[in-house]
Amino acid sequence: MYVIIGAGIHGLSTGMHLAQRLRAQGKTIGAGGTPIVVLDKSGVGAGASGIACGVVRNNYYQPAMRELMAHSVSVWERDPQAYSYHPVGYMQISPEVMHAQVGTIYEQQKAIGYESVFIEGERDSLDYMKGLLSDWQARNITSVLHEKRGGYANNLAAVEGLAKKATALGVEIITGVEVTGFRSAGGGSAISAVETSAGTIGCDQVVVGVGPWINSIWNMLELPKTISVKGRDGSVHDGVRMWHYMALQEGTLGVDPDYQKMNDGCMPPVIHVDTDAPLYSDRDGKLITDKLWGLYYKPDFHFNGVQGGAMPANVERDADAVRVDPYGPKSPEFVVTDNFADMWTSALAFCQKRFEGQHGVYRHEPSGGIGCFTPDSFPVFDRFRDNVYVIADSNHGFKMIGVGELVAAELLGEKSTLLAPFRFARYAEGKLHPVSHSPFPWS
Ligand SMILES: Cc1cc2nc3c(=O)[nH]c(=O)nc-3n(C[C@H](O)[C@H](O)[C@H](O)COP(=O)(O)OP(=O)(O)OC[C@H]3O[C@@H](n4cnc5c(N)ncnc54)[C@H](O)[C@@H]3O)c2cc1C
Repeated sequence: MYVIIGAGIHGLSTGMHLAQRLRAQGKTIGAGGTPIVVLDKSGVGAGASGIACGVVRNNYYQPAMRELMAHSVSVWERDPQAYSYHPVGYMQISPEVMHAQVGTIYEQQKAIGYESVFIEGERDSLDYMKGLLSDWQARNITSVLHEKRGGYANNLAAVEGLAKKATALGVEIITGVEVTGFRSAGGGSAISAVETSAGTIGCDQVVVGVGPWINSIWNMLELPKTISVKGRDGSVHDGVRMWHYMALQEGTLGVDPDYQKMNDGCMPPVIHVDTDAPLYSDRDGKLITDKLWGLYYKPDFHFNGVQGGAMPANVERDADAVRVDPYGPKSPEFVVTDNFADMWTSALAFCQKRFEGQHGVYRHEPSGGIGCFTPDSFPVFDRFRDNVYVIADSNHGFKMIGVGELVAAELLGEKSTLLAPFRFARYAEGKLHPVSHSPFPWS
């Protein structure tokens, strides 16, 4: 019996791919065969997957992340309709301080056969952008990386697509059942049963895909609250908190999504801009920041507007003291403020003239949500307590739809080279991922 906790992108992808592989081995899934059960305390897509902006990109400075993302993009491309995936491409538009690093991303994308175009220099970057969007006006931009693959997927539609496929393969999805603890037999480390609000369920394998709730499940598994991290210089930092929270800031400008069409009438790629040009309020002209800042946006019919976000805010509190529920827009604490609305709409106007004076149509409704991050803000995909596989994507993993396929293969005894750089032991061993100049913790 496989018990998967969490009906988000990872739990459902793992369940679906596991069922596919077991069936390919001639096994029956479900009663009389091998049961695969996905438990969710709320419902399908009730967590971060159901509110994600849904951006799918390869643009990562860390080689291991890029290779993992290239695999996930190929999974999105397998069935765009079922996953509500829009392969419009993705653009990383950067200032000089990021130029060289983004250049290495381009070189390595070429090396792994991931199609992209790299424009360098202020004049050429401006011309390239104006060629796509005639009102482009962002300043202090000296490179444009245009990924031809990637794009975005509609959050809930994508997880519902996965749930449908998983169910059709015999996976049972049980909602409204909360995991409250774990049992191990005979003093061993392995988990023999999962305690839930509906009783105890025996299991052979547990998969944890609980997104922002990872800290509470981690505690239930009695895993360490603090760890030692070996830095790049060889020095060891003890007592580093395993989990910390950040609040993702996202919102929607209430314009017709067609408003953001390109010069050729097509829908544009997802746009991500980082710059060190000062940002002034489009509302009252006041300086918002003169530090490196960034934003991302895309026209989206699902959100019915131009939707996107900016850098996340730190939640300066011990993870145990963070109230994750009620989650997302229902949270009384972690929704975006008017400051975000001013910053983000001003940033849109900074990039494109058509957004000047549009702050009045920003949709003032609760949006955004918190995510749980690892010490280095990169995922942990690993086995704990002998038979518990933890998928903790450090809150940038909606795009990582393929991780479930790789985890399913590992559950059945294979070793994934793509997942290997994301083991928990990397902190103690000092095998950390390189750090970029991006103002975002996940790039
Ligand atoms: C505002 C926002 C925007 C984002 N935008 C992007 C983006 O554009 N691109 C990107 O790649 N990533 C994005 N992310 C990150 C991405 O959404 C998450 O990394 C990803 O969705 C996590 O998926 P998951 O399956 O691990 O968890 P979730 O989708 O959070 O699902 C976890 C599920 O576990 C259930 N659960 C929790 N605890 C228990 C329990 N004890 N018992 C039973 N069930 C339980 C919950 O009800 C929930 O349904 C965004 C995140 C946020 C918050």
